[in-house]
Amino acid sequence: MVVKTRFAPSPTGYLHVGGARTALYCWLHAKAKKGKFVLRIEDTDLERSTPEAVQAILDGMNWLGLDFDEGPFYQTHRFDRYKEVIQQLVEAGNAYACFCSRERLDELRETQMQNKQKPRYDGKCRHLTADQIDLSQPHVIRFKNPQEGKVDFRDFVKGDVVFANEELDDLIIARTDGSPTYNFTVVVDDKDMEITHVLRGDDHLNNTPRQINIFDALGHKSPEYGHVPMILGDDGKKLSKRHGAVSVMQYRDDGYLPQAVLNYLVRLGWSHGDQEIFSIEEMIELFDINGLNKAPSAFNTQKLNWLNQHYMKTMKVDDLMPHLQWHLEQAELSLDNGPAVKDLIPEFAERVQTLKELVEVIKPYYQDFDDFEPNAAKKHLRGVAAEPLQLVKAKLAALADWQAEAIHNAIQQTADELEIGMGKVGMPLRVAVTGTGMSPSLDITLLWVGKDRALKRIDKALEFIEKRLTQDN
Ligand code: GLU
Repeated sequence: MVVKTRFAPSPTGYLHVGGARTALYCWLHAKAKKGKFVLRIEDTDLERSTPEAVQAILDGMNWLGLDFDEGPFYQTHRFDRYKEVIQQLVEAGNAYACFCSRERLDELRETQMQNKQKPRYDGKCRHLTADQIDLSQPHVIRFKNPQEGKVDFRDFVKGDVVFANEELDDLIIARTDGSPTYNFTVVVDDKDMEITHVLRGDDHLNNTPRQINIFDALGHKSPEYGHVPMILGDDGKKLSKRHGAVSVMQYRDDGYLPQAVLNYLVRLGWSHGDQEIFSIEEMIELFDINGLNKAPSAFNTQKLNWLNQHYMKTMKVDDLMPHLQWHLEQAELSLDNGPAVKDLIPEFAERVQTLKELVEVIKPYYQDFDDFEPNAAKKHLRGVAAEPLQLVKAKLAALADWQAEAIHNAIQQTADELEIGMGKVGMPLRVAVTGTGMSPSLDITLLWVGKDRALKRIDKALEFIEKRLTQDN
């Protein structure tokens, strides 16, 4: 039998990290078993589903590289099919029309609560005779849940799970307007789409016995299930916007690589010894649906940052470029006028953790900046820096070859002639040419900034110092 998994989000918001992790696990299991992965959009809640949310899911999946073999299927396109199956269930005596009014159900509920019973439908319309049924009257359709016995299944994550049927009441499968409900549509879809393994959040665990009973009524074997625990924030509470980014696309916007996010997500609920770094190929090879953690995992942004930096440092520049390109466009930074970015990436990936930060630190090599970074300027562009900057500028201007060694010598000679330490020339020079106090070694920095730019920026720094001196006096 071909293994088939599915990711079945409801398009009511963005693709959040919990959903993305579920999608990844389903995708990995399908890939590991040479099976198929299906994307199904559960959009029957017409009030809460939006086309923007559908797009956000597709964008998130696409950005993560979680490609699907079938779909996207939309539940709203399948209403005729659901109607057909409801009819089948009614005809087979496994579902029935229920005419109970809202008032009656409210009263029933209240009495049960007073008697400390679990609120549930009492089955009044289960036994209506043909002449008591008038389908022109408002009614819902309920599934006839078995009243005795139990539903037990082996969950990949939770182990053996048992529910007594008496805990489950006769679930509404079609509302008064005829629209089908969640537990029912999921079963029809999982059946029609021949899903063999369902992995989803453990908030769905209580739905599973109901779904298994509907499968039984349809004479079809249910898939196997695994319910993964939720993701917690680093404070141990359910992950929410309070904790920062929870939407997958926000991670892209914040400068994370999909490789890092996937690697992070796979470890958040699954492990292989104490290995932390997994390429996609390794994940596919090693991922085991039976090895998922039972306990909830807490989100740890530092670990994600560490992974992101790891991938920035180790990925081939050609693989990194498309991701960097997106951020360059956001920042309107063109790389046309400056050094080869492949030379800069290894140097700067050591110093930053996200692509967004990377763009910021490489900017001065491609584009003029307006202002010196205030703290760096305050510290290093002071009156005492004027003379070293003037002298080093003259030496740099005289260089015929703009080469690292020659640049280094010019700086060294300046320090020697003025009998000051290298730092007294170097730091003002660094702030002058990059606007910041952080850059690689000065010879490389100046080489990348380029001669014309470097000289102009030194002038700008000298003007800044002069202005500061006049203001101070
Ligand atoms: N549509 C459901 C959700 O977004 C998931 C249903 C399922 O995986 O069975 O929570």
